[in-house]
Amino acid sequence: MEEFTIHPIKTGEFLAAEKSNFTYQQGCGEKFVSPIIMYCIKGRDKVILVDTGGSDEAWAAIHHHGLRRTPDMHPLEGLRKIGVEAKDVEIIVNTHLHWDHCFNNELFPNARIYVQKREMEYAVHPLPVHCVYYESHQVGLTPRWMRAYHRITVVEGDHDLIPGVKLVTLPGHTPGFQGVLVNTSRGRGLVASDCQALFENWEGNAQYDHIPSGIHYSLEDYFATFKKMEKICDFILPGHDPKVFDQEVYP
Ligand SMILES: [Zn+2]
Repeated sequence: MEEFTIHPIKTGEFLAAEKSNFTYQQGCGEKFVSPIIMYCIKGRDKVILVDTGGSDEAWAAIHHHGLRRTPDMHPLEGLRKIGVEAKDVEIIVNTHLHWDHCFNNELFPNARIYVQKREMEYAVHPLPVHCVYYESHQVGLTPRWMRAYHRITVVEGDHDLIPGVKLVTLPGHTPGFQGVLVNTSRGRGLVASDCQALFENWEGNAQYDHIPSGIHYSLEDYFATFKKMEKICDFILPGHDPKVFDQEVYP
């Protein structure tokens, strides 16, 4: 089967991310600079984006919190550096519809966008504690992913995207969360995004084998997702860990 490479691209940085938002009740009050990561999966003749990053600094300052996005962190600039133009992207996978993972879907005119049905249902009317993450109507906004609504392909459950690349449901962080399982020269890599925002989530600690995100919809689903992940992947790639950039390309 074809082997793919996975390229992390930094599309911005939260300047003072709260650690316990990523690791459930661990590291409360600890702040760190946290990248917003988009991944580009490259094969012989296919380019797949997993997530499309967040907004610019001005939008984030009004609606979210402190973000740095220098010109070289623009998603199209990051892609250009690895030889990919916007028009080359045929497939986008949104792991979930939080604003910092789907804000730039509209920049890729030729892409089909894959989202889980459950995630779309939830995104249009989330619980009050999740409205800002989804930029939903309850906080007076229209989610940015809707600008490319007509190019969305809705999927339900695990789904073979192309040979060697599979969508797998990983509910917990959000109800319709999906990861992307990729065949590589070092086994099955799972782009886990916010399901495992940091490597530490997967590595665990003395108390837990794996640590759920502090931001979640269902902890019960989360622990079932951990069991599923243990069976299906050889390594994971997280959504917000600065250590991801110790390596330019995976595996
Ligand atoms: Zn998220």
